[in-house]
Amino acid sequence: MNNMDKIVSLAKRRGFVFPSSEIYGGFGGFWDFGPLGVALKNNIKELWWQEFVEKRDDVFGLDASIIMNPRIWEASGHTGSGFADPLRECTGCHRRFRSEDLNENKCPVCGEKLDKEKKFNILVKTFIGPVEDETALTYLRGETAQAIFVNFDNIQDTFHPKLPFGIAQIGKAFRNEITPGKFIFRSREFEQMELEYFIYPESDEEQFIYWKEFCLDFLSKLGLKRKNLRYYDHPKEKLAHYSKGTTDIEYQFPFGWSEIWGIARRSDFDLKQHSRYSGKALNYKDADGGNILTPYVIEPSVGVDRLLFSLMSDAYREDGKRTVLGLSPRLSPYKAAVFPLVSNKEQLVSKAREIYLEIKKELPAVFDDRGNIGKRYYSQDEIGTPWCITIDYDTLEDETVTVRDRDTAVQERVKYRKLADYLKKQLQS
Ligand code: ATP
Repeated sequence: MNNMDKIVSLAKRRGFVFPSSEIYGGFGGFWDFGPLGVALKNNIKELWWQEFVEKRDDVFGLDASIIMNPRIWEASGHTGSGFADPLRECTGCHRRFRSEDLNENKCPVCGEKLDKEKKFNILVKTFIGPVEDETALTYLRGETAQAIFVNFDNIQDTFHPKLPFGIAQIGKAFRNEITPGKFIFRSREFEQMELEYFIYPESDEEQFIYWKEFCLDFLSKLGLKRKNLRYYDHPKEKLAHYSKGTTDIEYQFPFGWSEIWGIARRSDFDLKQHSRYSGKALNYKDADGGNILTPYVIEPSVGVDRLLFSLMSDAYREDGKRTVLGLSPRLSPYKAAVFPLVSNKEQLVSKAREIYLEIKKELPAVFDDRGNIGKRYYSQDEIGTPWCITIDYDTLEDETVTVRDRDTAVQERVKYRKLADYLKKQLQS
């Protein structure tokens, strides 16, 4: 098996990610996150929110609705060719392909000729209201960003921030991707973590550099190896007319280098478009009321699912007989696993359960008394649990337990009354 298959198989087997609607044969481009996947996802989102919102005093949080007034998508350009995938359709079987996925000038499925490249819009349509006609047509949001722009004045009116300031949001986005695939890399329903950081136009270059570094630092904090990350600057000729530059942070996935984070200099394009379409001027007034301007914006936008995939892939390693998911402990779904040394000694099992329930009040933990201790270690290594705690006969005498470290396999004796503090301290380091 190659690494991609190994990760997909681990994700399924251990309850991180399941194909959506599996008992009905699945549904292309949709995925369900199991108990460990949702825990990992929540940890990623929590850390992002801490670094991008909570620890700063210039960024405000938002959680807007997924379905919005369809005019928003006209103003943003998403209903036009701006949000369309250039695809080539097979003249025989009518399947559609992205040019970048094609090796030859013929259909990879049936071998027939391919048509010229055409653009297909990828907004997901839906109807709101009792009648399903054109007037009821709207869209599931194709990105979270537009909800931020249309709330620009609400944030200004309620919090009176000074430039520069940002508005951040985490939420679902939907795209009718023609070629979903590569596991959760490209799906039709996914989550984004987006920041729109509003700035004085003259600080555009400086802010762009700042946010590129800030995002890369964040990825390093999550534990991604620097050698598997790189910047990719979009060539000038491929940029939208309003854009001064876009840099992606790419990750070296098992299938090659691909974008996980896009950092774009969007100028004043979005605020101006929404001013024009809504008839409400979206401006910023300096504190003294003198200077009125439309701020520029820097947009760092990252997908939670892609990031999760990169983290699993980066953390995956085989070490002799064991498979280890060496996630940063702050991301690990369980921080600790608690075992009785053997499962047929009532005293050990009940002591282990008692300690487990105590720890669980403080940290996500799991109890396991199946099989032998070696198997339980391996089983936890594979899902990234950083510490395994074993309750043995000495525990009953001296109130200590064994704490075994996932990465070094080194074992330490710790007083069980101090265990929660000990683990929390390790988590901070
Ligand atoms: P791509 O070129 O890969 O389609 P994009 O440039 O269209 O991506 P953006 O619109 O910049 O992507 O979205 C920002 C981020 O959202 C991306 O960097 C990615 O992490 C995530 N993302 C976008 N589309 C998808 C998708 N179909 N599935 C999962 N994540 C996605």
